[in-house]
Amino acid sequence: MSGGAGPAGDNARLTRRWQGALMDNFGTPRLPLVRGRGTRVWDAEGVAYLDFVGGIAVNALGHAHPAVVRAVGEQIASLGHVSNLFIAEPTVRLAERLLRLAGREGRVYFSNSGAEANEAALKIGRLTGRPHMVAATGGFHGRTMGALALTGQPAKQLPFRPLPGEVTHVPYGDAGALRAAVTERTALVVLEPVQGENGVIVPPPGYLRAARGITEANGALLVLDEIQTGVGRTGRWFAAEAEGVEADVVTLAKGLGGGLPIGATLAFGAAATLLTPGTHGSTFSGNPVVCAAALAVLDTIEEAGLLDAVTRAGERLRRGLRVPGHPLVREVRGAGLLLGVVLGGEVATRVQQAAQDRGLLVNAVAPDVVRLAPPLTVSDGEVDEFVDGFRAGLSDVLEESLTVA
Ligand code: PLP
Repeated sequence: MSGGAGPAGDNARLTRRWQGALMDNFGTPRLPLVRGRGTRVWDAEGVAYLDFVGGIAVNALGHAHPAVVRAVGEQIASLGHVSNLFIAEPTVRLAERLLRLAGREGRVYFSNSGAEANEAALKIGRLTGRPHMVAATGGFHGRTMGALALTGQPAKQLPFRPLPGEVTHVPYGDAGALRAAVTERTALVVLEPVQGENGVIVPPPGYLRAARGITEANGALLVLDEIQTGVGRTGRWFAAEAEGVEADVVTLAKGLGGGLPIGATLAFGAAATLLTPGTHGSTFSGNPVVCAAALAVLDTIEEAGLLDAVTRAGERLRRGLRVPGHPLVREVRGAGLLLGVVLGGEVATRVQQAAQDRGLLVNAVAPDVVRLAPPLTVSDGEVDEFVDGFRAGLSDVLEESLTVA
């Protein structure tokens, strides 16, 4: 558990430097981290943690995975950046690879984040000539102005209104409400297969299939935001495979780059050719180093059989958290290794701290929900270690509440 020990006080010193130099839009982060390996990270004082935040569902292969390290090293040593005025082979290979994984003909646009992947989807929607868009209440699609317009969380939107586009938000999981909102003026419907940021909310079975039917009937595009759920996170390359749904546009980011920033907008059918020369772009689009990292992630997921491993580890984690029942755990929901532990009260921040005190990093994603998104490579031993520590942390919170009461 030890390693890279720094002097006591280094966490506080780095935190103060952060506060003095960085904008406060995130609030002060919980902890400075200086090193990671696999599922484990170390803080500035050398304390080790089992990382079940995973950089917010980003670190698909954990920290410092040799395949990613090698791919990045080799690529930056040969050709680091060419801009979109030239072609780099890893960019083409990654686009071809993603289309092969989707099993369909289409085209890919690369960007640098999830929000940008959705911005591209939104611009594709605009180019249909239709003005209206539909998204889900509570959904999260990013913080740039277009993506924020789709994000169904008014508190995040409020300071930045007016936002672009005519967007109707409908209750997530309610196919009837979706049917009532989509018309022949609707360019696109954007949905997450599982609402990650909203507390890991799984829609009722058949919802995505219904969304496919409704969009098709009205000639609207179905955009599936798989930024959090894609690239193996739920035990499939794309979470929507579980319902056999083929969207017109799929957005990816997070896990794809194995820790490097990338977004991808995959479009199929007529949607694949709406962006024409000059309509969209970014200097870093398809950067070969980032694409090489993403190829290493996809290769490793395939070669190590990680899709099945995710399903097995997810089940082990769920079982461990549910059995025997704990008085603070109401439910464990989600898919694969994107899980939400629903607590019997608004104590998620306290549980997050109790877990951290026991050497576990988790994320209080909602007042009563703790999100778990460990690397897809997490071992059975690490799952068991986490379960034991997390349950003990839950009991710490319970005891503390009883003492206070
Ligand atoms: N879409 C979904 C479903 C997300 O979970 C996120 C980030 O949490 C985004 C979009 C935005 O991605 P980014 O933070 O990379 O802009």
